[in-house]
Amino acid sequence: MAISEEDVARVRAATDIVALIGEHSGLKRQGRRFVGLCPFHDEKTASFGVNAEEGLYYCFGCQASGDAITFVRETEHLDFVEAVRRLADRAGITITEDAAASAETRRRTPIYKALSDAVDWYHERLLSSADAGPARDYLRSRGYDGETVRKFKLGWAPDDWDALARHLKLGATLLSDSGLGFVNKAGRRQDQFRARVLFPIFDPSGRALAIGGRVLPAGAGGQPKYKNSPESVVYSKRRVLYGLNWAKADVVSSGEVIVCEGYTDVIGFFVSGLPRAVATCGTALGEEHFRMLRNFAMGRVVLAYDADSAGQAGASRVYTWERQHQLDVAVAALPAGSDPGELARTDPDALRASILDAKPFLAFRLDRIFDSADLTTAEGRGRAADSALRAILEHPNTLVRDQYLLQVADRCRVEPGSARARMETLAKEPVAASEHKGRRGESGPDRKPTIRTTA
Ligand SMILES: [Zn+2]
Repeated sequence: MAISEEDVARVRAATDIVALIGEHSGLKRQGRRFVGLCPFHDEKTASFGVNAEEGLYYCFGCQASGDAITFVRETEHLDFVEAVRRLADRAGITITEDAAASAETRRRTPIYKALSDAVDWYHERLLSSADAGPARDYLRSRGYDGETVRKFKLGWAPDDWDALARHLKLGATLLSDSGLGFVNKAGRRQDQFRARVLFPIFDPSGRALAIGGRVLPAGAGGQPKYKNSPESVVYSKRRVLYGLNWAKADVVSSGEVIVCEGYTDVIGFFVSGLPRAVATCGTALGEEHFRMLRNFAMGRVVLAYDADSAGQAGASRVYTWERQHQLDVAVAALPAGSDPGELARTDPDALRASILDAKPFLAFRLDRIFDSADLTTAEGRGRAADSALRAILEHPNTLVRDQYLLQVADRCRVEPGSARARMETLAKEPVAASEHKGRRGESGPDRKPTIRTTA
């Protein structure tokens, strides 16, 4: 089915190409153009330009070029008609061909609407409903003021089976398709969230995709602390980073993104003056997250996990990401046993310092090895050196390896030449996992990384 030339022209005219492309790549104004990193090829310096007046983009690096429709086709892998529909939908334009809109588009539109309505309704409940008193008290005790609650559109799901479903008059299909609820065993509609503080999850353009819910400390009896929306046609954990819609501007201007583990960690960074934090939603950081981040984070990704989680990060994947996406992965220097959400309230200076003092991934791993080693005996130093050299061997760059090797030689009181010889020997050995796993706190080469790719 074709779309008329007229409609195509209307859609083009109604599309803000700078805002559209800005969802994929941070753009900065430069004279009459906007420039940024090219979403189509890996680069460190911006060679991608957008001319808002003409509605065109062009990359000097890879020669990608086109208009808003081309851009949507390329980035979302759609055909021409689908791309025009997507843009029409975005601009609120009805095109004559709409009756034949794809089943997919027709299915998604009411889901987005239901999610948006639900987020608004839950938010309003938190702000003004009497039964949300304990939730407001809890948030206040965590240091959240009204501004924070509004910015992150936090919500309250009442202690009720189907309050949302009834209020929004959601039918059984839409209720389950949106992840907002389901039909229970008794054949009745039931809300997904009950008696929980809610953290809505948005896409980079600010469209609600899902919700994360946390029980109040008092009402925790047997319930999991956190519960998320199930995956749906609009929500895939692998492709979503909580907070990116609020963080993207600061990520672009600072050239850095902070990746944490939870919603409250993200908010903690924002209220502490570092509004460039995002979190994975109940899944490990993976390749698709990096592909999203690449368009925004120009230089550095700081993992603000607790030390044990960060220590589990799969080294080979981290190095692959560093190489493929031309960025550095560092690990925040968080005090032992603290999480960013809590630290934001008790010691925001320490939280900011943890990012300033973040260490390169390999340096962090070596510190972990030495922290748990016994360096008072020759045997202890020998074991620590072996573990450290194995960790170094995983780094792909020989020059980087050699600099860390010098540090290891120094800390273990051996000659650099002996350390090099030992590393060559270790390089030829098959990795015997049992030999250097299982000792306390040590992060030898990981066989089971918690950071994993899903591809
Ligand atoms: Zn390019």
